[in-house]
Amino acid sequence: MKISMIGTGYVGLVTGTLFADRGNKVVCVDKKINIINQLNSGKIHIYEPGLEKLVQKNVANNNLSFTTNLQEAVQQSDLVFLAVGTPSNEDGSFNLDYLLRAASDVGEAMRPSSKFKVVVCKSTVPQGTSQPIIDIINKATHNPQLEWAYVSNPETLAEGTAISNFSKPDRIIIGTGADKVSDHAFELICELYHPFNIKSDRIMRGSPADAELAKLFSNTALAARIALINEFARISDLTPNADMDIIRRMICEDVRIGYNFMFPSPGYGGSCFPKDVQGVVAQAKIAGYIPLMMSQIHPSNEAHKNYIGERVAKLLQTKHPKIGVWGLTFKPNTDDMRDAASIPILTRLINSGAEVFVYDPQDHKAREIFGDRINYTADKYAAIDGADALILLTEWKEFDAPDFNQLKRKMRGSTLFDLRNRWLPAAANRQGFNYYGIGRSYPLK
Ligand code: NAD
Repeated sequence: MKISMIGTGYVGLVTGTLFADRGNKVVCVDKKINIINQLNSGKIHIYEPGLEKLVQKNVANNNLSFTTNLQEAVQQSDLVFLAVGTPSNEDGSFNLDYLLRAASDVGEAMRPSSKFKVVVCKSTVPQGTSQPIIDIINKATHNPQLEWAYVSNPETLAEGTAISNFSKPDRIIIGTGADKVSDHAFELICELYHPFNIKSDRIMRGSPADAELAKLFSNTALAARIALINEFARISDLTPNADMDIIRRMICEDVRIGYNFMFPSPGYGGSCFPKDVQGVVAQAKIAGYIPLMMSQIHPSNEAHKNYIGERVAKLLQTKHPKIGVWGLTFKPNTDDMRDAASIPILTRLINSGAEVFVYDPQDHKAREIFGDRINYTADKYAAIDGADALILLTEWKEFDAPDFNQLKRKMRGSTLFDLRNRWLPAAANRQGFNYYGIGRSYPLK
C-alpha cells in the first residue's frame, strides 16, 4: 500500500518505518526541514534502539522516503496517517493546533484526487475530536465527489521499546464509522496491519470516540498507578521500619495488582502521561463533569517531584554541594526529555547552590534544556569525581550495578540517592555509604 505519515517524530518515524519494513511504500512528511535533511542523510533525529538501522535498510530498498512536501506525498497515497504532536495548553487541555493544521493541509492536498483515501489519526486526542477533523478535511477538500474515510487508530507504543511494541502489539485499536465507506476503510486497515496480526487477532473495532477514550483510559490508568505507589512511598518514608521495596513486592504478587507501573520513582514524565491525564480531565470538565480522582493524578505527580527535590536538598546538608547525577531522560532507552523529573529536581538543587555533574548516555536533548547550568561528563565515574553525593535519576541498565568501591574512592562524600530503588542498600552501606531510596528506611531518614 502507499502510505504517507504526517509528522516524523517518535510515533511517525517508528510506525512509518515498520510499515515500510513489511513492504509498503511509505513517505514520511515533516514540516521541519532540518529533520528531513538529517533523515535523508541516513541519520535519525531521535534515539530509539534499533531504529536507525531499520530506517537505513528501508531507505536503501526504496520503501521509505522523507520529504517536506505534504501535497505530493498525500496525492500519491492510499492511506494518510496523522502523527503530529498534541501537546498541552497552559490550562492542561489538549492543544490541537498542529493536528487541525495538518488535517487542513491533508484535505487541501486531497482536493484534486479521484482515488479513495483513508485518513488515519494516530495522534492522541481528546474525546470527540474525530468530528472536527472530519469537518476540517471536508471543508478543505471542497470536493463532494471525493470518497474518503476517517479512522481513529491511537498509537500504544512506548519509547525505548517502540519497535517490539509495534511489531508484536497487544492490541490494535481502530475507531471507524458504521457506514459502507467506513467498512471499506476498516478492510484496508486490517490488510495493512495483517503482518502484525497473524499469530492472533489483536484488532479491536469501535467508534472513533471508543478508540479515543480507550487510549486516554490506558494512559490515565498507568499514570494513576505511578502516582499511587509514589504516595505510598511517601507514607512509607514517614513510617519507621518500612521499606517500600519490600512492600512493593508484597503488593504486586497479588495477581489482581501485578508489577507493571508499580515502581517508586521521582515521578512520571515524557510526552504522554502528563498531557493525556490533564487533557482528558480538561475535556470532561468542558462536557460538565469533574472526575475527582482523575483530577488529582497530575497534581499528585507534580507534588511528588517537588517532594523529592526538597528531600534531596534537605538531606544533603552541605551548603554548596558537588553532586554527581546518573541519568536525565524521563526513562531509559530514549533521549526524550519532555516533562522529565530531572528538570524540576535538578533546577531546585542548582537554585540552592549545588554544582551538578551529569552523565546520561543520550544527553543531547538535555543539553538544550539545562545548557551550561550543569556540567556534562563522558562516563558515569567521571560524573562523581570529588562529589559529595550521587543521585540516580534514570535507570539506564549501565547504572544497575555500580562499583561501590570505586565510588567510595572517587567521591569525597558518602551519600547515595537511589531515586529508582535499583540498588541493594546493604551493599552500599557495607562500603560506608548513606543510602537513600524512595520510601525505604535506611540511615538517612
Ligand atoms: P513528536 O513531537 O516527536 O513528533 C511530531 C512531529 O510532527 C514533529 O517532528 C513535528 O515537526 C511534526 N509536525 C507537526 N505539525 C506538522 C505538520 N502540519 N506537517 C508535518 N509535520 C508536522 O511527537 P510524538 O511523540 O511522535 O507524538 C505524536 C502523537 O502521538 C502525539 O499525539 C502523542 O501523544 C502520541 N503518542 C506518542 C507516543 C510516544 O511515546 N511519543 C506514544 C503513543 C502516542
